[in-house]
Amino acid sequence: MNITEFVQELAKININPTEEQLEALEIYKNILLEYNQKFNLTAIKTDSEIYLKHFYDSLTITKEIDLKSNLKLLDIGTGAGFPGLVLKIFFPNLEITLLDSNNKKISFLETVIKRLNLQDITCLHGRAEELGSKYFEYFDIITSRAVAHLRILAELSLPYLSLNGYFIPLKGNVTNELEESESTIKALGGKLVNINEFMLPIENSARTIIKITKIQSTPENYPRPYDKILHHPIK
Ligand code: SAH
Repeated sequence: MNITEFVQELAKININPTEEQLEALEIYKNILLEYNQKFNLTAIKTDSEIYLKHFYDSLTITKEIDLKSNLKLLDIGTGAGFPGLVLKIFFPNLEITLLDSNNKKISFLETVIKRLNLQDITCLHGRAEELGSKYFEYFDIITSRAVAHLRILAELSLPYLSLNGYFIPLKGNVTNELEESESTIKALGGKLVNINEFMLPIENSARTIIKITKIQSTPENYPRPYDKILHHPIK
């Protein structure tokens, strides 16, 4: 996907980038390529792949949620900033927290944020299940791309989601994940709102955006330690 195709595809999902936003993405991409030579942050290494599989793909979340108001958004396992940092560039009004357990990724993110002079964006180095009570039911939107099975993700995120907020994981193909996650979602106060399946343009690979809201407060003993989450599914 070249930049012309990127802009054309974004127009189809009602996003019209400014020159400044396109410039910011170029800078972001260049720092990513530079860091990648040292740290191998992502397997995606060409300009056109970065525009399609990172930048465009991150923005597809807008198919499911209007991001124009001042919402507090948490991106769990953001890696090199997908989707959270891309969303900040397009929706500067968002108050964003980028969380990752890998410190190399956090220092990369801090470099990009400083270079782009972004405000109201925080990087946290740590594990989602250990975020702590400070963030209990704190965020309006929680997202996460390519991090874990939905059942695991639901427990890593729903405790930090405010009542009536939205948890919106971005996934590839989901087969049995939803069924396998039903009881966890319910136990933590969540409710499935929508499943949006589509193809990524150009390479036509499957994408699924799952939209979950919170209709009841999560019991305060969640999330449990990771080992429990992994080996003792909620029945
Ligand atoms: N969202 C990015 C990165 C996906 S790779 C993208 O789509 O490109 C998964 C990332 O999740 C890794 O960077 C890993 O360090 C992080 N991660 C995995 N489990 C985590 C946890 N429990 N808490 C915080 N980060 C986690």
